[in-house]
Amino acid sequence: MRVETLLNKFSIKGINYNLNSGGKGLLSAEEQLALVGLCWHESPVGWLVLFVEGLRDTKALKQLHIETRKEALRLMKNWRGVYPEKALIALCAAAIAEATQQNGQVCPECNGSGKVLSKCNHQRKCQCCKNGRIEWTEETRFSYFAQVLPVTYNRFKRYSIVLNQLIFWIVNNRKIAVCAMELQIKKEGCDLIV
Ligand SMILES: [Zn+2]
Repeated sequence: MRVETLLNKFSIKGINYNLNSGGKGLLSAEEQLALVGLCWHESPVGWLVLFVEGLRDTKALKQLHIETRKEALRLMKNWRGVYPEKALIALCAAAIAEATQQNGQVCPECNGSGKVLSKCNHQRKCQCCKNGRIEWTEETRFSYFAQVLPVTYNRFKRYSIVLNQLIFWIVNNRKIAVCAMELQIKKEGCDLIV
């Protein structure tokens, strides 16, 4: 099931940290989840990822950057030698891009359609991607990372160890949140039968 569909099923609208709006303020993400029997605290990062992925939630994206940065700092504790602040930004940007688009980035040549128009206006299969997506490889990871920190590929290979751990961490958190939703659907299904 698509993430959008799942979030929709629970009528989750996105994130709201503005709790002091008073009166009939919007519910916070935590409250929205609690209403449908889901728990924010099981995987805050996982929920943020789903909100970014399924709802294009910009507040969630901002928060996800903050949380990912904390994890990146933790992972970089064992880093030998120095690294610039920009390395953290590059690591977070690349990790979030990959974890929220696991099928690959939207192809910039065909805008995700997988088809382009030839010079004589015929539709052609896009030569740049697979079905509109550019899959993640060490090469595409490097090119994403290097948009923020244009280092050599050799240097990137050192960063990519941390990058992979960071991606794994985000994807794992996402799995926990998805599992929670699926479990809840099963539970509701059982309730209906009873
Ligand atoms: Zn393409």
